[in-house]
Amino acid sequence: MTDRLIENARIVSATGVQTGAIAIDDGRIRAVGPDVASEYGDAADVIDADRMVAMPGVVDVHNHMHDSDLFPDGIDFASETASAAAGGVTTVVELPTQTPITSPEAFREKREECADLAHVDFGLVAGNVEDSDLDVDGIIAEGTRDFKTFTADPYLASDETIVSLMEKVGNAGGKVRVHCETQGILDHARASIDENTPDVYMDSRPLEAELDAISRMGWFAEYADCPLHVVHVSSGSGAREGGRFKSRANVPVTLETCPHYLAFSKEDVEEKGPFLKVNPSLKSPTEVERLWEAVRDGTIDLIASEHFPTYREDRERGWENIWEPYAGLPGIETMLEFLVSAGVHEDRLSWPRLHELVCARPAREAGVYPQKGSLQEGTDADIVLVREEEFEVSADDLRYVGGWTPYEGQEWSARVDTVIADGDVIARDHELRVSPGRGEFLSRS
Ligand SMILES: [Zn+2]
Repeated sequence: MTDRLIENARIVSATGVQTGAIAIDDGRIRAVGPDVASEYGDAADVIDADRMVAMPGVVDVHNHMHDSDLFPDGIDFASETASAAAGGVTTVVELPTQTPITSPEAFREKREECADLAHVDFGLVAGNVEDSDLDVDGIIAEGTRDFKTFTADPYLASDETIVSLMEKVGNAGGKVRVHCETQGILDHARASIDENTPDVYMDSRPLEAELDAISRMGWFAEYADCPLHVVHVSSGSGAREGGRFKSRANVPVTLETCPHYLAFSKEDVEEKGPFLKVNPSLKSPTEVERLWEAVRDGTIDLIASEHFPTYREDRERGWENIWEPYAGLPGIETMLEFLVSAGVHEDRLSWPRLHELVCARPAREAGVYPQKGSLQEGTDADIVLVREEEFEVSADDLRYVGGWTPYEGQEWSARVDTVIADGDVIARDHELRVSPGRGEFLSRS
C-alpha cells in the first residue's frame, strides 16, 4: 500500500498546471499525474487538496540563519529553518555572516552544528572570503562548491583577492558568489550625509555602486574563467548589466534577486523606516518595474529570500539612528506567499515561471536537481500546497520569532497551507509539526 496520496491538486510543473494527484512512498514521489488518484486510492493517508496548487517545496539558495557570534539568543538554525518550513521552503542554502567559514574545519563544524538544529534539508556556502589564501579543494571536499565574497564592507575583499579567488575556485570546478556594490562610491556617498533619519539610507548606497560592481565582477569572472553568481540584484538596471555577461556566454553567470526588491521602492521608506533597511538599498519605482520585467523575461535566473533575522526591538532603534541596526530583512517565510500574490495573481508571472524561479533553477544552481525542485517519479516528496485566500499580512501569524515583517499590513491572496518534506507533513497554516534535527545536509561537492 502507498503511504500517502495528495489528490485533487493543481500541480505546477515547468510546462504548466495540471489537475491530478501525487502518490508518495518512503519519502519519495511514486507517481504524479491526472490518473494517479484511481490507481493509488487505497493509500494509508489521503489528503484532499481541494484544488489547491501543489508545487515542489521552495529551494532558497540565499539566507542567513546561523551565527552564534552575531545573532541574539533565540535566533539560530532551528528557529530560522522552522520559519522556512512554515513558509513552504523545504531546502535552504545558508551563507556565512560574521563568523568566517573559510577552512575545511570551520565548514565541518558549522555543518555538524546545523545538522542538529535543521528542520529542513540544507546546504552551506563558504565565505566570507577576504583573503584568497584558502584551501579551496579542502572546502569543496566538505560539501560545497560555492564561495562568497564582497566588493563592499563589512567583508570587503580587494580586487586582487577576488580575481585570485575566482581563478582558484574556477579551476576547482566551483562558483563564486559576489555581493556587488563598489565601496568607493558608497564611501563618497556616505561622507556627504549628516542626517540619521531612515530616508537618507538609500542615498548612502547609490544605484551606480551596484552597476559598477556587477560590471567589474563580470569582467573579473571572464578573465579568471570562473562561474559567477551575483547575489541580490536590487535594480532592473543591475539585471541588465549582469545580463550582458550572460549573453556573452564565456562563463556561466547567474543573477539572483529577492522579494523585497520587487515589493518595495525607496518611496516606501517614509512609512516603513528602519524596517526596510537592507543592502543593497531599495531603489526607485522605475527600477522596481524594470526588475519585474527582468524576472519575467529570464534575465534574472532565480529568486532567493536573503533572509536575515533580527528582533523588532533592535530594528526600532533605527527610527532614531538609521546607522545603528544591522541591515537585512526577514523574508523566508513570506517569499512564496508574496510571489504568488504579487506575481502570479497579478499576472506578472506564470505558474511555470514561478516554478523555475524558486524551485527548479535554484535547485540546479545548488546542485540538487531533480532530487529537489521538481515533482517527478523518484524525486524527494517535498511539496507545498498553496490555497487562495485574501488576508492581511501580520507578523503575529508567522512562525518567525523576530516579531516583525516588512510586509506588515499588505493585502495578499495566497496562503501556504500544507508543507510536506520527505513525504511527511512538516507544517500546516504556519504551525510546525516536526522537531529540529530532521533536516539533512546536502553535500554539493
Ligand atoms: Zn546575504
